[in-house]
Amino acid sequence: MGMGDLSAKSVQEALPDNQCERCGLTYPGKEKQCPHCKSIKSDEDLESFKAKHEKEQVAGKKPIAGIVVFIIILGVLFYLSL
Ligand SMILES: [Zn+2]
Repeated sequence: MGMGDLSAKSVQEALPDNQCERCGLTYPGKEKQCPHCKSIKSDEDLESFKAKHEKEQVAGKKPIAGIVVFIIILGVLFYLSL
């Protein structure tokens, strides 16, 4: 009977991340409730949470990609100038 327990456990651990329908963030599949928005009760708070998170995503990801490209270009220019 130990086999059943084991496979049930490994299936649970291998669960893919869930995407929360409420706030749009991902959370581990073993969590029953989204940890990001479970404490948010009102729709107003949820909207401001989502807006804030979207801003962070936009502000956080694009500059990093730009910096990486910039560094690669600099590296190539430096290499070519040697
Ligand atoms: Zn959520």
